[in-house]
Amino acid sequence: MKKVVVIGAGHGGVQVAASLRDEGFEGEIVLISEEKELPYQKPPLSKGFLQGKQTEVSILFRSEQYYVSNAIDLRLGVTIASINPKENYISTVNGEKIDFTYLILATGAANRKLRFDGKEPKNVYYLRTLSDAKWIGQQLESANNVVIVGGGFIGLELAALAVEKGKKVTVIEAQSRLMERVLPEVISKVFYETHIQKGAKVYLGACVNGIQDNGDVVLSTGEALPSDLILAGIGVIPETQLAKEAGIICENGIVVNELQQTSIPNIYAIGDVANHYNPFAKKNLRLESVQNAVDQAKTAAAHILGKAVPYNAVPWFWTFQYHLKLQMAGISLGYDDYVVRGDTASGKFSIYYYKEGKLIGVDSLNKPADHLNARKLLELGIHPAKEEIRDLSLSLKELVSVS
Ligand code: ADP
Repeated sequence: MKKVVVIGAGHGGVQVAASLRDEGFEGEIVLISEEKELPYQKPPLSKGFLQGKQTEVSILFRSEQYYVSNAIDLRLGVTIASINPKENYISTVNGEKIDFTYLILATGAANRKLRFDGKEPKNVYYLRTLSDAKWIGQQLESANNVVIVGGGFIGLELAALAVEKGKKVTVIEAQSRLMERVLPEVISKVFYETHIQKGAKVYLGACVNGIQDNGDVVLSTGEALPSDLILAGIGVIPETQLAKEAGIICENGIVVNELQQTSIPNIYAIGDVANHYNPFAKKNLRLESVQNAVDQAKTAAAHILGKAVPYNAVPWFWTFQYHLKLQMAGISLGYDDYVVRGDTASGKFSIYYYKEGKLIGVDSLNKPADHLNARKLLELGIHPAKEEIRDLSLSLKELVSVS
């Protein structure tokens, strides 16, 4: 009997197990998670869960019964030490061997850590897991001064919820604007102004030189910011160690083909860890998103079931901070022109990015209908003229339904 073993029970890992069963896989499925909790969704951790609007149960992917009913052998609290790709088995840290016909690496990414003189300061905390979120939630109860290092998605989502809890919040971002990695200036500006208006202090182009034992965060300017909770969201590093040690080709993640196979054909990689050729970006990259993990999981499951369905989904992402709901479709990186639809001052608008005359991505702020439409435009390869985008009397829905 065929046996699929999945390492990692995040969005990709759970989806691949579910898709295999949904699509008729009759062999064994083993789903391994290093964490002790039932598999849960990650995006709510820095949003609804820490805001107290969602509970531990409401963020679970599935109930325990689901795994039992679908004969998915869920093994929680199990850490894998190595992969033997020649003899097709993996070993746990406790020395147990688990054999496989197909192995799926859904190992995700780990937080990049702040270091000073090569050493990690003890009093800096990161958000990745449910237990991190619970711990941060507890600390937020008593903290007054919260310093957040990194003005990316995680840092800013944490900043917003700490301000909403009445904390004094300072954000320190190394670049000259917020979320620079993925967003253009016009959107960074809206977020910057909002965070300031809500009461956070935001340092841009600022470096942390060190953290003192009393919690003072020392900037390169010499300024010392007092804090009783320091959180950092300074990006992630793909979890490639197991793959590397097994001789699987890795380069900014685990390198995969369009069917999610690694350099060893019966070993797949999906999600944040997978460096793939992205047809939308027209280059190799990793995507840290739920959409990417879920769609790559479906491609891997289909291939195991004998169907080659190359990964070709339109990438999309989102971040929610205060009343700002930003939804991103496509990959706008490398655009040479953009057109704004709507009034930026109203806080509800979308930006359409073009490269060589072709639409490559759309960021929608508080415009969910534009976002859904943008995904369709990108999926269908429709490139509206820039005048059409600017023209608010024209419904973009028609562009999608006409073709
Ligand atoms: P995350 O998922 O952790 O939010 P992002 O890449 O979206 O990751 O954002 C990380 C942000 O942290 C980036 O804007 C980056 O410029 C910033 N950053 C990275 N290192 C530092 C640092 N040492 N000090 C301040 N900001 C940093």
